Amino acid sequence: KRISSYSTSAAYDVPINPPVQINYTKLLINGEFVDAASGKTFPTFDPRTGDVIAHISEADAEDVNRAVSAARKAFDEGPWPKMSAHDRSRIMLKFVDLLEKHSEELAALETWDNGKTYAKATTDDLPLTIRIFRYYAGWADKIHGLTVPADGLYHVHTLHEPIGVAGQIIPWNFPLLMFAWKVAPALACGNTVVLKTAEQTPLSALYASKLLHEAGLPQGVLNVLSGYGPVVGAPLASHIDVDKLAFTGSTDTGKAVVKLAAKSNLKPVTLELGGKSPFIVFQDADVDKAIEDAHFALFYNQGQCCTAGSRTFVHESIYDDFVEKSRELALKRVVGDPFKKGVEQGPQIDAEQFEKILKYIKIGIESGARLEAGGERFGSKGYYIQPTVFSDVQDDMLIAKDEIFGPVQSISKFRDINEVIQRANATQYGLAAGVYTKALDTANTMTRALRVGTVWVNCYDVFDASIPFGGYKMSGNGREKGMYGLSNYLQVKSVITPLKNPAWL
Ligand code: NAD
Repeated sequence: KRISSYSTSAAYDVPINPPVQINYTKLLINGEFVDAASGKTFPTFDPRTGDVIAHISEADAEDVNRAVSAARKAFDEGPWPKMSAHDRSRIMLKFVDLLEKHSEELAALETWDNGKTYAKATTDDLPLTIRIFRYYAGWADKIHGLTVPADGLYHVHTLHEPIGVAGQIIPWNFPLLMFAWKVAPALACGNTVVLKTAEQTPLSALYASKLLHEAGLPQGVLNVLSGYGPVVGAPLASHIDVDKLAFTGSTDTGKAVVKLAAKSNLKPVTLELGGKSPFIVFQDADVDKAIEDAHFALFYNQGQCCTAGSRTFVHESIYDDFVEKSRELALKRVVGDPFKKGVEQGPQIDAEQFEKILKYIKIGIESGARLEAGGERFGSKGYYIQPTVFSDVQDDMLIAKDEIFGPVQSISKFRDINEVIQRANATQYGLAAGVYTKALDTANTMTRALRVGTVWVNCYDVFDASIPFGGYKMSGNGREKGMYGLSNYLQVKSVITPLKNPAWL
C-alpha cells in the first residue's frame, strides 16, 4: 500500500464562537413565531463537536394542521394570490435587499448548523440564494396565459393560476439554497407555502423567513415547520388541504411521500432525489483540469451533494497519472474548523452520516478497491472524515452503486466510448454527469447518450437561477429553477367564450 500518513496542514482546533446570535427557534405559523402545540423541542447540533447549538420547537401533525389552515386562509382570503404581480415582485425584491444586508449572519448560521465552510457559504450559498429570489421576483409579473386560435366561433384564452397551498420538504445539505429553490417560485406564482426544514438544519430558514415578513410578506403566506420526517413531513405530504407537494431528499423518502400524496388527494408531486453521477474523462481532455474538477465534483460540500461526481471514469491511457494526482490532491485537502480561513473541508452533517460513510469506506476496502488516500475519521472530535480516494473500483461494488454522500472518490478505468456510455447509464439514478473531452463529436455523442438531467461539458457543478435542474429515472421528476420551475406552481385554466356578433365574423 502506498498510503502515506495523512498530511493536512490544518490542526483541528477549539471552535470559535460563530459571529451570529440564534434568535429564531420557534415554528413560524400565520406570521408569528409560536411554540409547538405539544410544547416539545428538539436539539440541533454543531457538527464540529456534536454539541447542542439550540433547542428548536418540534412540530407534529397538529402543527401541520395549524400551518396548513393558515396557508389555506391566506390563499383563499388573503391578498397574496390576488394582489398585483408587480407588488408581489416588490416584496420579494425588498427581501433580496434584506438577504444581502444580513448575508454574513445567514452564512454563519449555515456553517454552524451544517458544517460547510464559511468561505463557501459566503461565496456560493448566499449569493446563489439571493440570485434565485431576485430571478423569480423578476418572473412574478411576466407570468401569463395564451390566446388560443380554436374554433372561430369562440374566443379562447388560458389563465396561468397559482395551484394553492404548496407543501415543501427540504434536506440539510444546502439548507438556505433549497429553501430558495422551493419558496421563490412558489411565491412568485402567488401560492402560499408550508415548508418543512430538515431536522439537522432548521436555523437559516427561520432567520430568512423572518426577513421575508420584514419585507412585507402577508401573514400566513409562508409557514415554516421544524421537526422530524415521519412526524411532520408525512402529515404534510398526506394533508388533504395541501394542493401541491415539492420534495428534495433521498430516493427512498421520495417514494414514501409520493404514496402519501396519492393516497390523500392525488396532489401533484415534484421530486429532486439522489444521484450517482458519472464524471467521465477521455484521453484527449485537458487532464490536469479534469483532475482538479473531478476532485471538486466529489469533495465539494464534504461530498454531500446530490450531483457529487461519485463515479470517476478515466480512459485507460491517462489512468495511472490521473489516480496519482487525485491522490495527491486529496492528501493536500485542508480539513478543519469550517469557520477557519483556508479550510476546504468541514465536518459531515451528523453522527448518522459520519458512521454511514465510514461503513462504506470499510466496505470499499473489503471488496478489493485500492485505497489511495484517507479512509479514516479526521481528528478525535466532531464528524470529520479524511478525504478518501479509491482506485480500481469495479461497477458491481457497493461503493460504485450506492449514494455515499461523503468525501469518498471512486475512480475506475474505461477503454472506449460505447463501454463508458453503457456503464455510466447502468444505474437507477440519472441526475447529472460530467464529460471531459476536446473533441466536439465525443461531447455531442455523450450529451445525447447520457440519461441524466444535466450534463456539464468540461466544467462541473455550474448552477444558475436560470438553468433548469432535475433528474431522469429515480433521481426525480419535474424541473426546478429557470422558467421550467414556474410550471411546478402554476395550473392552466382554459376560458372559452362564444363570439356573439356574427356580423363581425
Ligand atoms: P431524507 O430523504 O432523509 O430527508 C429529506 C427531508 O425529508 C427531510 O426534511 C426529512 O425530515 C424529510 N423526511 C424524512 N422522512 C420522511 C417521511 N417519511 N415523510 C416525509 N418527509 C420525510 O434525505 P436527506 O438525508 O436529508 O438528504 C440527502 C438526500 O437528498 C440525498 O439523497 C441527496 O441526493 C438528496 N438531494 C437531492 C437534491 C436534488 O436536487 N436532486 C438536492 C439535495 C439533496
